Amino acid sequence: TITSSKQAIELEDKYGAHNYHPLPVVLAKGEGVFLWDVEGKRYYDFLSAYSAVNQGHCHPRIKDALIEQASTLTLTSRAFHNDVLGPFEKYISDYFGFDKVLPMNTGAEGVETAIKIARKWGYEKKGVDENRAKIVVAENNFHGRTTTIISFSNDENARKNFGPYTAGFVKIPFDDIYALKTVLDDPDVVAFLVEPIQGEAGVYVPGPDYLKEAKAACEAKKVLFIADEIQTGIARTGKLLAVDHENVRPDILILGKAVSGGFYPVSLVLADDEVMNVIKPGQHGSTFGGNPLGAKVAMTALQVVKDEKLAENAEKLGELFRLRMQKLVDKYNVLKLVRGKGLLNAVVINDTEESSTAWDICVALKDNGLLAKPTHGNIIRFAPPLVMTEEQIHECCDIIEKTIAGF
Ligand code: PLP
Repeated sequence: TITSSKQAIELEDKYGAHNYHPLPVVLAKGEGVFLWDVEGKRYYDFLSAYSAVNQGHCHPRIKDALIEQASTLTLTSRAFHNDVLGPFEKYISDYFGFDKVLPMNTGAEGVETAIKIARKWGYEKKGVDENRAKIVVAENNFHGRTTTIISFSNDENARKNFGPYTAGFVKIPFDDIYALKTVLDDPDVVAFLVEPIQGEAGVYVPGPDYLKEAKAACEAKKVLFIADEIQTGIARTGKLLAVDHENVRPDILILGKAVSGGFYPVSLVLADDEVMNVIKPGQHGSTFGGNPLGAKVAMTALQVVKDEKLAENAEKLGELFRLRMQKLVDKYNVLKLVRGKGLLNAVVINDTEESSTAWDICVALKDNGLLAKPTHGNIIRFAPPLVMTEEQIHECCDIIEKTIAGF
């Protein structure tokens, strides 16, 4: 058993692949908006496992659902039917307003699924010649880590020496409707895959109407609009989906992370029949996709989002948070700007991308009892669980102010 943070870090360092660079904190317990380390120090969580625990850590209702289903039936594979899958698929389709859902496990699998559906739809419904289909993506995207997905990343660290790359992707600048309209003139384009807010890139919120205009431009050219809401969805930005801010309905919607409140990997790909029905038996799937345990957990986690009005809370606390951060930006030179929507926010540090200031601030925040992580060098993302109270967010802003004042 682990008795000190130092011991846990040493074990990871020696026996685990070095594919992450975590902040030096070893967590042993979570509840709601709080995390505790091995030594018993309490922190406010301002990452929410990259927005997977929007419902808060170890939510009791989700935990009970998990335990109950784990004691009954966990996995049948899709070789047989089970008594949870149908109700789950109906629940999800009704909840998000699509004809059908295809359940997978991780976010990257959801993205891969959407790519396969879009390509097949392109050949069979749009009439694109075989092997010619193109999918448009945005620069600085983050959609996951598979070989196909990193093929259309422009993060050198994510790509270099992992080639050869998957063909069939065209990159355009994010938030540039003219670039999109130009590339849509190519009749081989079958889909536009986009994050409504670019999370990993540093919480880039596009200009007003961008998503609405992008959807309309796609529709005009019979191109599928695919929204990757793995990070922005499930109430994070103050609405159930980030596209809801512009009343946009994607042709394909990809969800993951908070779909299951951090208990169990569940991702979802939603579409209407015209699109989803291109997939026939044997053409796609996953052993664990849609299993009874994940299905029960996801239904409960999504019901919590509704019952606890998490979107409304995220909207309200987000306004508060940005107001408080804006005051810090005005007061302290080390901060350049704050941006975001709901409780998905970022503060940009007034320093070069290569500087360690953002990292140093996050280490100091940790010492002061708040956990956040830099994304892309000089940007700090602030994304607490959505179950936070007004009083707590003010306390967190006080911690951030006290920390920033020291830089
Ligand atoms: N897409 C977006 C927008 C994400 O933020 C992420 C994860 O951070 C993914 C896809 C990949 O999800 P996963 O890590 O579950 O494969």
